Amino acid sequence: PIITNKIAAGEVVERPSSIVKELVENSIDANASYIEVFIEESGMKSIKVIDDGDGILKEDASLLFERHATSKISSDYDLFSIRTMGFRGEALASISSVSRTIVKSFNESSAPFLIEMYGGEEVVREPAAERKGTEVIVLDLFFNTPARYKYVSSLTTEAGKIIDVMQKFSFNHPNISFKLTFDGKQRFRTKGNGNLKEIIADIYGINTARIALPVEAKSPDYSLTGYIIRPEMTRSNRNYINISINNRMIRDFRLTNSVIRAYHTLLAKDKYPIVILNVDMDPKIVDVNVHPAKTEVRISKIKELEALIEESIKKVLHGETL
Ligand code: ADP
Ligand code: MG
Repeated sequence: PIITNKIAAGEVVERPSSIVKELVENSIDANASYIEVFIEESGMKSIKVIDDGDGILKEDASLLFERHATSKISSDYDLFSIRTMGFRGEALASISSVSRTIVKSFNESSAPFLIEMYGGEEVVREPAAERKGTEVIVLDLFFNTPARYKYVSSLTTEAGKIIDVMQKFSFNHPNISFKLTFDGKQRFRTKGNGNLKEIIADIYGINTARIALPVEAKSPDYSLTGYIIRPEMTRSNRNYINISINNRMIRDFRLTNSVIRAYHTLLAKDKYPIVILNVDMDPKIVDVNVHPAKTEVRISKIKELEALIEESIKKVLHGETL
């Protein structure tokens, strides 16, 4: 199984930011209301994720790092209505095969435990302190995969990607409080009070009270909600356009371009708005199972969605200028 894990690891854990994403998704799936992430040297030295979620049963400790061991899909039916972020049971197996991984956890109906994996081998197991929730620490990333170690070339680029992932989690889960710390310095913290406008303010350090314009629109298959901040109010770039589907972060150039088309006809071409948009749709018409990282999606009726995004953003921007 160790060999299989090392191969699979290429897809799910190609860089520190993808590991942060997988670990935080696990905390969200465990119903955490507080998720704290500590990063050292852009994750190459250490990644630590602490949550106050349900915790893991001690009896399940040795299953954690097993490939395709997941507690999240119980029947074929579940595959059609995926509600949890994870469902492949592959992240911890992959991560632990290319790093030193420590999991401490406490689920109230079991005993606390600590388990450490080094290069795919289980090396320690001893009781941990009692606090409901889970702490995962990833050290010595890619120590046994030199090619991937080298591939992570710029620590600044990696840090940017981690920040981006954490920002998107904060927008998509306004009721969870997120805290991100780099090399001992707090980068941002959200309150988890459900107020998206406040979250945008906490993250971008701007006063959103008056400048964040609400976006709301519907078409037969899609429903859009979110905020846009006019480009001339910010110093933003393309990365400030955040579009999610059913509160999952996705990567889709067509949707980002729909946003850009909407305001480039009206405004200066070298400026970008801050956009936080979520698209609600029937999970049956979106396939998130294209790639293990789950950020690439296939959307049926993509044209309808592109038009809806473009039109609704145009409407908001026009409403302000006219
Ligand atoms: P998946 O999320 O696809 O099920 P993972 O490898 O990410 O697979 O995690 C394996 C299992 O470990 C999960 O199904 C879950 O039961 C457990 N787990 C991992 N992280 C946490 C956490 N932070 N809190 C509670 N359970 C967790
Ligand atoms: Mg997972």
